[in-house]
Amino acid sequence: MTTASWTLRCSACDTPAALERASLCGACGQPLFARYAPVATTTELRPRWDMWRYAPFMPLLEGEAPVTLGEGLTPLIECQPLADAVGVRRLWIKDEAQNPTASFKARGMSAAVTRARAEGFPGLVVPTAGNAGAALAAYGAAAGMKVRVYAPRTTPRPILDTIDAMGAELIRIDGHIGDAGKLALAYAAESGYFAISTLREPYRVEGMKTMGFEMAEQLGWRVPDVVVYPTGGGEGTVGIWKALQELAAGGWIPADRVQPQYVVAQAAGCAPIARAFAAGADRAEPWVDPVTYASGLRVPSPLGDRVLLRVLRDTQGVAGTATEEAIRDWTFRLATATGIDAAPEGGCALSVLRDAVVAGRIASDAEVVVYNTGSGASYRA
Ligand SMILES: *Cc1c(COP(=O)(O)O)cnc(C)c1O
Repeated sequence: MTTASWTLRCSACDTPAALERASLCGACGQPLFARYAPVATTTELRPRWDMWRYAPFMPLLEGEAPVTLGEGLTPLIECQPLADAVGVRRLWIKDEAQNPTASFKARGMSAAVTRARAEGFPGLVVPTAGNAGAALAAYGAAAGMKVRVYAPRTTPRPILDTIDAMGAELIRIDGHIGDAGKLALAYAAESGYFAISTLREPYRVEGMKTMGFEMAEQLGWRVPDVVVYPTGGGEGTVGIWKALQELAAGGWIPADRVQPQYVVAQAAGCAPIARAFAAGADRAEPWVDPVTYASGLRVPSPLGDRVLLRVLRDTQGVAGTATEEAIRDWTFRLATATGIDAAPEGGCALSVLRDAVVAGRIASDAEVVVYNTGSGASYRA
């Protein structure tokens, strides 16, 4: 028996939890985080061309083969015309469209499915605004495991088609991801399937973390001034933040500047985190009637609200919103300035960044990394 190199503790109250069948903290109901001993800079990263290059920081047992489709190691593309348009000194796009199933959700599913397979679950179930379902369908197929996906009927057609194409059982629902979440949990209780919803189990965010490792390594083991992330459930943002904490603990990045300023970008039609942050609250109220065509951002009550709001406060962050029109406009600008097939979520990120610069919340000499979290192709019916 190999012992795990990580333990689980609550992200809010630090109560330890058992590794087996982990979900939320038994004491306070908040998300669990994996914790590791610091990884020293003398440690070798793995010579492989996927996110498991960062295996020493990951929940992987000694000698265990992860469930992988070559996720991660996405390009970081600098674009001076966009930096000028937004009004900052330097700007890079981290293009997450170049993952299996065309979004960063692949990273989380690679990590979570690896652990679920090792635990011997009979299947996997996820509620999704779209991309998480496509990613789980793919990683379930790669692991030889059954998958059930609950997705809103309004999810963009190419994403639903991908879920079907990977042989998952797709349940189309009336409503949003919050409604899908209730159905997925009920099904997990009945079937014994592993429920992989955002931050409800501790391993998806471990895959998201690799976006932070890569960004730091691609910049020569340093951290930009600002990171902009289009935020729904919060796993991407929290993952990057967690990665930088772990890099700093091991000495991989300079201790005097561990965290960037985070800009959480939301759609004006669904902005529970931006609203809570503006009100100075430490948790978010559910958003009634969430509407946006950037479907990854249509998350009315994110479970990661407290962690996200803490990250924003601790980093002098900014949480802003973009209208549907501004999202369309900046998605087009992003694509035409870079050649990246930008997702509307990426456009939302740029729009919110631009507003934050105009408002003087982000310095005009800042170096900024913006995540393009998905692909424009996923939205073209
Ligand atoms: C899921 C998703 C998001 C939101 O990410 P969170 O980790 O839930 O905050 C943003 N963009 C796209 C394309 C997504 O699929």
